[in-house]
Amino acid sequence: MKAMVLNRLRAPLECIERATPQPGPGQIRVKVAACGVCRTDLHVVDGELPNPKVPIIPGHEIVGRIDAVGVNVVGLDIGERVGIPWLGHTCGICPYCLAGRENLCDHPLFTGYTRDGGFATEAIADARFAFPLGETGSDVALAPLLCAGLIGWRSLGLAGPGKRVGLYGFGAAAHIVAQVARWQERAVFAFTRPGDIATQNFARQLGAVWAGSSEDLPPEPLDVAIIFATPGNLVPLALQAVRKGGRVVCAGIHMSNLPSFPYRLLWEERQLISVANLTRQDGLDFLGAVPAIGIVTQTTTYPLHKANEALADLRAGRFEGAAVLVPW
Ligand SMILES: [Zn+2]
Ligand SMILES: [Zn+2]
Repeated sequence: MKAMVLNRLRAPLECIERATPQPGPGQIRVKVAACGVCRTDLHVVDGELPNPKVPIIPGHEIVGRIDAVGVNVVGLDIGERVGIPWLGHTCGICPYCLAGRENLCDHPLFTGYTRDGGFATEAIADARFAFPLGETGSDVALAPLLCAGLIGWRSLGLAGPGKRVGLYGFGAAAHIVAQVARWQERAVFAFTRPGDIATQNFARQLGAVWAGSSEDLPPEPLDVAIIFATPGNLVPLALQAVRKGGRVVCAGIHMSNLPSFPYRLLWEERQLISVANLTRQDGLDFLGAVPAIGIVTQTTTYPLHKANEALADLRAGRFEGAAVLVPW
């Protein structure tokens, strides 16, 4: 198989050819049809997350067809189209797993971070963590749903039912969440880098009632805000934008340091929380709702061997929506 491998942190991925792996007990092998590129892949490459497996094949928004099945795999067959998300394995026995909070498992494996992911022509996955995708929708269009969509869905759920939703950082996740929020009859306020008129227009096309700079206050106070971008200074800005009792959700796996800020920004029962990973139930709930919501993802495709270019373009904000690698 071919793969784009991170051999050293903060170095470009290298295109390698290696023996195609065989699925072990409880595992499937997938022929990758598309793999989304997520900001978390940048954090892995940049060495911003603790204890990555190196060398590692990044990529955790995998869409592909099962082409080999290990022993003890139940309910999945060769030829079936599946999605493989960030949550690659959980222990099943820690207090968090037992409490139904497997996203916080004490001994997890994460696709493309602590186990090999989908920047490759083939990938191995724990069958219990793969989602059947059915046959509706193209491989490329579905790929961003598997992290950007899923984490966005979980973040919106944890934000609560507020009607006025602020989205800080209007990239892959926010462009999907905006569609979910509109379907839920909420009003979306989109915050971008100052001066990023193209992304503000993109947000309005997706139904945002207001789009502007992250340094601006919205025309009316928000009920909730979700921060997808990484600068820590967005936290006090978002707290300032939400009403009394409002909630700010940090959806990213990594942010730069939060600046100190006056306590009055948190006062009046404003809440600040983070979202970590996903549960399989999140995946079932979200993917089950996708057809009714009618989510349309905006994607820019790159051939697998141009993964470094895709990562660089993501870093520089050179496309709207999501980047997706295809293995040809
Ligand atoms: Zn666990
Ligand atoms: Zn991701």
